[in-house]
Amino acid sequence: MVEVINESKTGEPIENCCFCRRETTFWYQKQIACCKDCASRANKEDMPTKAQWIRRERIAQIIFVSESINFSVKTKEYLL
Ligand SMILES: [Zn+2]
Repeated sequence: MVEVINESKTGEPIENCCFCRRETTFWYQKQIACCKDCASRANKEDMPTKAQWIRRERIAQIIFVSESINFSVKTKEYLL
């Protein structure tokens, strides 16, 4: 288990959890968004760095918004 803190009193900032990508206001060390469910199962070693998390989010968003499966496969290959 890792400790996450609810950084929001107003419902912001909402970011995608670094593991399950559900929206959360909980953050690990004020650096990485991580929901309570994943935090309860993750160990410190499982946490990505902030740079890794941002890179994964960027790739996931590009795949999510692309409508064509072929396009997302090509984009994925290009980015990896
Ligand atoms: Zn999660």
